[in-house]
Amino acid sequence: MDGDGHPAGRKGEGLVTGDGIFRPGGAAADETYDVVIVGAGPAGASAAIYAARAKLKTVVLDKAPSAGALAITHKIANYPGVRGEVSGLELLNTMRRQAADFGAVFVHAPVQGVYVEGDLKEVFTPEAVYRGRALIVATGAMERATKLPGEDRFLGRGVSYCATCDGAFYQGKEVVVLGDSEEALEEALFLCKFASMVHLVVPGKRLLGVAEDHLPEQPNLRYHFQHRPLEVVGDGRVEGVAVKDPYGARKLIGGEGVFVYLSGSKPSTGFLGGAVPVQEDGYLVVDEEMATPVAGVFGAGDVRRSPVKQAVLAAADGALAAMAADRFLHGRQKMISQR
Ligand SMILES: Cc1cc2nc3c(=O)[nH]c(=O)nc-3n(C[C@H](O)[C@H](O)[C@H](O)COP(=O)(O)OP(=O)(O)OC[C@H]3O[C@@H](n4cnc5c(N)ncnc54)[C@H](O)[C@@H]3O)c2cc1C
Repeated sequence: MDGDGHPAGRKGEGLVTGDGIFRPGGAAADETYDVVIVGAGPAGASAAIYAARAKLKTVVLDKAPSAGALAITHKIANYPGVRGEVSGLELLNTMRRQAADFGAVFVHAPVQGVYVEGDLKEVFTPEAVYRGRALIVATGAMERATKLPGEDRFLGRGVSYCATCDGAFYQGKEVVVLGDSEEALEEALFLCKFASMVHLVVPGKRLLGVAEDHLPEQPNLRYHFQHRPLEVVGDGRVEGVAVKDPYGARKLIGGEGVFVYLSGSKPSTGFLGGAVPVQEDGYLVVDEEMATPVAGVFGAGDVRRSPVKQAVLAAADGALAAMAADRFLHGRQKMISQR
């Protein structure tokens, strides 16, 4: 059990976040929502506060609630109204609870695709499809800009980004998970159900957003901290990942499957698959009211280009996006402020 009494090693039950706010993947998908929000960082959480308070039926989907930019911020001291030392995750969970108090539902689920052409927007996760009359994209900018050598070559043939989708192919086999976040740990734990051995390769000294004394143990899970992935190696099929160990030596960590969950600083818009226009470098195209060119689809926070990336600005974006969504849903011409 973890500190909050959640059973250890189970996906989607708050093992890592332990915050009790998020429901497991697939939950609450049988409803039709007014607003589906993707991303529960300050932009998504703030959008959820404004949407739910305006009595819009709201669901927020997040793939890794402790791994967004604010969630991994050790200490934040410049968020207006919050004095003293507070971690990014504490601040964020306060925002999320505030939204939940107004009725927003939070679900722990990775969004892998969207269909936005109809009046009802469809949002695809491994376990369920969520439907809403408006969609707010608030997925931040922590995607990777560059890929590992070999990653593209073996994509779909040994390299995967989704343990839920591909894990069962590796029954009784060794796999390698590359990542630096809670998401990577969760996916590694999920893969432990199938693989004979899961090697979790972490470039740094710790997993972002995961307390060091909360690292789950499994007989078939091995952690490799301070091992920097260099390339996916294979000849026709994946044989493993070449890494640089903490002493600078190159070595091979063997596995027939490689699951990649590394983070960087690129906008997280890949899952949109071109359904919503993005700029050349992936930033979402939005107007001053956070509306994208697709009717009923809005964007907020680091996922859109802004002169600086700060939590207070992301939260402000979220508020604007929710009010614009409300306006869209009720056919109003002018933005009406909430009281
Ligand atoms: C190390 C660091 C320190 C910082 N320090 C400060 C500071 O002191 N003060 C300050 O104001 N700002 C600070 N910032 C900036 C601030 O954290 C960001 O500007 C802010 O968090 C952006 O909010 P966001 O909601 O747009 O994105 P994020 O906070 O990154 O949240 C995005 C969320 O979307 C989720 N997501 C992404 N893709 C998907 C998907 N496909 N499906 C489901 N969910 C998805 C992620 O899991 C994440 O929870 C810091 C940033 C970093 C990285």
